[in-house]
Amino acid sequence: MSQHEAWNAAWCQRALPQLAAQPWDLIVVGGGISGAGILREAARRGWRCLLLEQRDFAWGTSSRSSKMVHGGLRYIAKGQLGLTRDSVRERQRLLDEAPGLVDPLSFLFPHYQGQFPGPRVFGGLLALYDALAGKRNHLYYPLQQLRFLQPGLKEDGLAGATRFQDAVTDDARLVMRVLGEARAEGGEALNGLRVVELRREAGRVVGLLAEDSLTGERLRFSAGVVAQATGAWADALRRRDTAEHIRPLRGSHLLLPAWRLPVAHALSFMHAEDGRPVFVFPWEGATVIGTTDLDHAESLDQDARISGAEVDYLLAACAQQFPGAGIGPADVLSTWAGVRPVVSDGAQSKKPSDEKREHALWQEPGCVTLAGGKLTTFRLLALEVLRACASMLGKPLDDQGQAVFRTQPELALPGLTPAAQRRLRGRYGRQLPAVANCMAQVGTECVGATQTLWAELAHAASHELVLSLDDLLLRRTRLGLLLAQGGAAELPRVREVCQTRLGWSDAQWDEQQQRYLLLWQQCYSLPAPAGSPS
Ligand SMILES: Cc1cc2nc3c(=O)[nH]c(=O)nc-3n(C[C@H](O)[C@H](O)[C@H](O)COP(=O)(O)OP(=O)(O)OC[C@H]3O[C@@H](n4cnc5c(N)ncnc54)[C@H](O)[C@@H]3O)c2cc1C
Repeated sequence: MSQHEAWNAAWCQRALPQLAAQPWDLIVVGGGISGAGILREAARRGWRCLLLEQRDFAWGTSSRSSKMVHGGLRYIAKGQLGLTRDSVRERQRLLDEAPGLVDPLSFLFPHYQGQFPGPRVFGGLLALYDALAGKRNHLYYPLQQLRFLQPGLKEDGLAGATRFQDAVTDDARLVMRVLGEARAEGGEALNGLRVVELRREAGRVVGLLAEDSLTGERLRFSAGVVAQATGAWADALRRRDTAEHIRPLRGSHLLLPAWRLPVAHALSFMHAEDGRPVFVFPWEGATVIGTTDLDHAESLDQDARISGAEVDYLLAACAQQFPGAGIGPADVLSTWAGVRPVVSDGAQSKKPSDEKREHALWQEPGCVTLAGGKLTTFRLLALEVLRACASMLGKPLDDQGQAVFRTQPELALPGLTPAAQRRLRGRYGRQLPAVANCMAQVGTECVGATQTLWAELAHAASHELVLSLDDLLLRRTRLGLLLAQGGAAELPRVREVCQTRLGWSDAQWDEQQQRYLLLWQQCYSLPAPAGSPS
C-alpha cells in the first residue's frame, strides 16, 4: 500500500496501527546499511518484511564511516584474505550497479627511504589485491611524476608513490537507495521506532515491543523471525550466551574546504605516532582527514563526537604529510565520528587496531543478530543473515546473485551537466522521477558551492521520512558537514523550501532549528577547548 503514498511522518502516523497489527515474516531491527541490505534481499523474495529504526535511517555508523567501498588492503596484510576477496568483488559490483553513488577513487601511497612497506613489497600486496579483484590497477610513480599527481607532499626522503584503485560513496545515501529498492519490492521501513524488548514465548522470539519516539506510544509487533542489525548496539537486546561481544571503537574525521588542501587522489600513509594507516581524501567537493581508532566509552544514545586528542592526532597526520599546508583548527569546516561495531573475543589486552574486523552471527530461536562487518560487504552479510532466518522460518532461500539496484529507464534531466545527472541517477535510482518533479518546482540550482540541489532538499522533505532537521541536513543531504557552521546561513532558504513540505508549524521549525544548531555545535564541530564552558 505505502509505496504509492508519500513516505513522510504524517503517512507514518496513519499507517502505524495497521503495520503493527499485521503478522510479519521478518522484522529487521536497525536502519543502517546492514538492516537495509537484509530488508532488500527479503523483499525481493516476497517475504512480508518490515524494518524499524530507533532514530533515523543511517543515524548509526552507516552515515559516519570513511565512505570507502574497498577491499581493505590492510586486511590482506593481516592475512584476512577471504574478507579482502569478498570486499573487492562487492566493490566491483557496486561500481557497476550504482555509478554516481559508488565511484572509483584512486589512492596514492607515498614511499619514503627506509620506510616499510617499500614499493616492491607494496606492489606485491597490490598484485594480490588486484588478482582477487580480477583486474590489474596499480602503478608506481617516481618522484618527478608524483609531483604532478600530488604536489605539496613531504619531500624529505620521498622516493615515489604507488597508485591503486578503490571506490568512494555517500554512505547515508547508499542506505537510502537500498531502502528505496526494498520498499519498491514490498518491504516497509520506519524510523523513530525504538525496539525496547524482544517478545519471547516458550523460549522463542515471536515479535517485539517498539516505542514511537514522537508519541511515546508502545506497539507490539509479531514476526516469524527477528533480525537484529543494530551495529554497535548489538549486545543490547539479544540473549547473551557467548564470550564474544561488541567492543565499540570510535573513528573520527575532520572535513576541510577543498581549497585549503586540494587532493585529486586519496592519500594513504602511516601516522608517525603509532604506525596506523590514515587517509586524506576528496569527498563531495571537500577534503577529509581520517581516521582514529580508540575505545568509545560514551553512551551510544548520543551522536558520537570527536575528542580534542583525536583532533590533534589528525592535524598531526596532516602536518606530517603536507608540511607546507599549515592546516590548523581554524581550517576545519566540520567533524564526524562513528563507532565501529567490532566483535571482540573478550581479551582485554588487545589494542583497538589489533581487533579483527570479521563479522559474527549470533542466534537464538526466532532471532538472528548480526555483529560487525563493513559497508562494502553489506549484500553478502544480508544474505548470510537471511539464510539463517530462512532456516528458522522453514523457507527455501535461492540466491542467483541478483543486482541490488534495478536498472532504471533513462530520464532526461534538462539543465544539469552530465556529471550532475550521473550523481542524481546514482543517488536516487527509482526515485529519480520524484526528484525531477521537485526540480520542476524549485529549479536546478545547487546549495552554495556544494553539488547538492535545492530540489534534493525538497524531495527529502516530501518523500524521505524526515523527522528532524538533522535527518535532512546530516543524512538525506550532507549539507551540515559541507557548509560553514552546519549551513546556518542557508537555514532561512531551507525553511522556505522545506517547512510546508515537512508539515511543520512555525513553532516546530524554530524548535527543530535550535535543536539542530546545538547538536551541530556539540557533535559535528570542533570540541570546545578544555576549560571553556560547553
Ligand atoms: C570511523 C569508521 C569508518 C569506517 N569506514 C568504512 C569504510 O570506509 N568502508 C566500509 O566498508 N566500512 C567502513 N566502516 C564500517 C561500516 O561503517 C560499518 O560496519 C557499517 O556502517 C555498520 O552498519 P550497520 O547497519 O551494521 O550498523 P549501523 O549503521 O550502526 O546501524 C545500526 C542501527 O541500528 C539502530 N538501532 C540500534 N538499536 C536499536 C533499537 N533498539 N531499535 C531500533 N533501532 C536500533 C541504530 O540507531 C542504528 O541506526 C567504518 C566504520 C567506522 C566507525
